[in-house]
Amino acid sequence: MLKDKVAIVTGAAQGIGKAISISFARDGATVVIADVDLIGAGAVVSEIQSMRKKALALLVDVSCSREVEAMVIRTLDEFKKIDILVNNAGITRDSFLIRMSDENWTQVIDINLKGAFNCCREVAKTMIKKRSGKIINIASIVGLTGNKGQVNYAASKAGLIGLTKSLARELAARGINVNAVAPGFIETTMTEELSESLKEKMLGKIPLARAGSVDDVAKATLFLASEYADYITGQVINVDGGMIM
Ligand code: NAP
Repeated sequence: MLKDKVAIVTGAAQGIGKAISISFARDGATVVIADVDLIGAGAVVSEIQSMRKKALALLVDVSCSREVEAMVIRTLDEFKKIDILVNNAGITRDSFLIRMSDENWTQVIDINLKGAFNCCREVAKTMIKKRSGKIINIASIVGLTGNKGQVNYAASKAGLIGLTKSLARELAARGINVNAVAPGFIETTMTEELSESLKEKMLGKIPLARAGSVDDVAKATLFLASEYADYITGQVINVDGGMIM
């Protein structure tokens, strides 16, 4: 499906971004692994190269527009085009509102929301020129439902959904599809820090009665990146075992 496509995946050194990158590469894409963790990104590139596919690790802080600009220039130098952008880089800095520091608010908004804005803006320029492209934003069901202790994170993900729908309208006439994936409770380092009792409580809310895997999220992302999703834009696909309906 993704044969000869060039994809950039942010926050791809581990977790969901790594699974997305490997599934894209397995499907034939060349993948740019953009992350603040260059060692982790390099390890993902080695894994992809061992599958005899092309990949490139880049040190990029998505919240910095200059670094994002450099990422796009380097990708175009190396691979000549960008067909797919996955805005996956994201962090949590949880606490209840009255105890939340300015820093924890700003950091989460800067990386999760402004980071996606930075990447969309740079990549859209080249996608508009070739009148095609697929942008997929990794949001969260928390952006739809809200969550106690996560006003910063939920606001960033709700903002990302608003960005997705607005950009989908803006870029539709240029042949560019913009969609979001909203994962629910996925087993990653982000969730392994949760207490056992909280994990059990979360599992009780999932009709499919299991936590999601990074591959569950990768499969939905691969679908949206492929030609099978050519007539889909401005949508949010929940990958949450039916947690919210
Ligand atoms: P993860 O395991 O923490 O991986 C995120 C990656 O992004 C890490 O390699 C991290 O590097 C990198 N990163 C952090 N800040 C960055 C920046 N400024 N620029 C570039 N890269 C940066 O996270 P995950 O669980 O795979 O989550 C991936 C995405 O899915 C996030 O957007 C998250 O909000 C979303 N999501 C996850 C879940 C879940 O259950 N896990 C549920 C819903 C949504 P460092 O580790 O060095 O910081």
